[in-house]
Amino acid sequence: MGFRMANVEGRAALVADGHYYDLETVTGGAIGSDPMEAIADPAALAAVSATLAEHSPTGRLDSIELGPPVPRPQKSFAIGLNYQAHAAEGGMAVPAAPLVFTKFPSCIVGPTADVEMRSDGCDYEGELLVVIGPGGKDIVKEDAWNHVVGLSVGQDISDRPAQFAAKPPHFDLGKSFDTFGPIGPYLVSVDEVANRDDLRIVTEVNGEVRQDASTADMIFDIPTLINYLSRITTLVTGDIIFTGTPEGIGVTQGRLLTDGDVITTTIEGLGTMTNRCVRVSDYLERDE
Ligand code: ZN
Repeated sequence: MGFRMANVEGRAALVADGHYYDLETVTGGAIGSDPMEAIADPAALAAVSATLAEHSPTGRLDSIELGPPVPRPQKSFAIGLNYQAHAAEGGMAVPAAPLVFTKFPSCIVGPTADVEMRSDGCDYEGELLVVIGPGGKDIVKEDAWNHVVGLSVGQDISDRPAQFAAKPPHFDLGKSFDTFGPIGPYLVSVDEVANRDDLRIVTEVNGEVRQDASTADMIFDIPTLINYLSRITTLVTGDIIFTGTPEGIGVTQGRLLTDGDVITTTIEGLGTMTNRCVRVSDYLERDE
């Protein structure tokens, strides 16, 4: 049996049947309240989860707004062009090695946070999020899943004009504006999903389906990504990987996000995020 963990006002909580249970409270202080510390010991989270029926819930999930389940990752990787059909829609060749960029941890927000757009060129990218539990270096593919504490839903929001303002493009900046990394609603242990290698992923904008694919279509699968990244940089607890988006992004259809749009992102077994888009001031200063 696994667990579902959420961030309730900065505190780790376990989730079951529409309720949340404050982790520090139900463990009598044995596990602290910081979600970043809680995910260091997945076995303990699973063990506590199995005892939730013995405790009174702390509150109802529908009465609160959740924060990001991994609020302060040391490293936040993202993978570009990791689905064949998505590479094709952009007229790009399929990469020979994983195309890796950074979404700065400062862009990470919760599953219902507003996305603040600072140009008229912003776009959605629904993605499976992988969260590292036990860290490691030179992790072999066969052992990679043992380093994953859980999965979540992510949106890799992009400001396309900023991304492509330079040549070659600067992915990191264009995808790291504040609020451009909604994640959640929960961190779900891998054994809670039916098939970790084949999860349906759907992005809707204002209720209209824009992306509908399976994570089975990734070019570089999760063990390959973990192996590749960990041979370059030591992975630590709480590092996250946005694993790439399938086809159906806005820019290739001329359908970028506008003020008031609502993005709904769902992954089978992991839950749904709902994020409203708010057009704020331009990031580029206008010439007088
Ligand atoms: Zn992406």
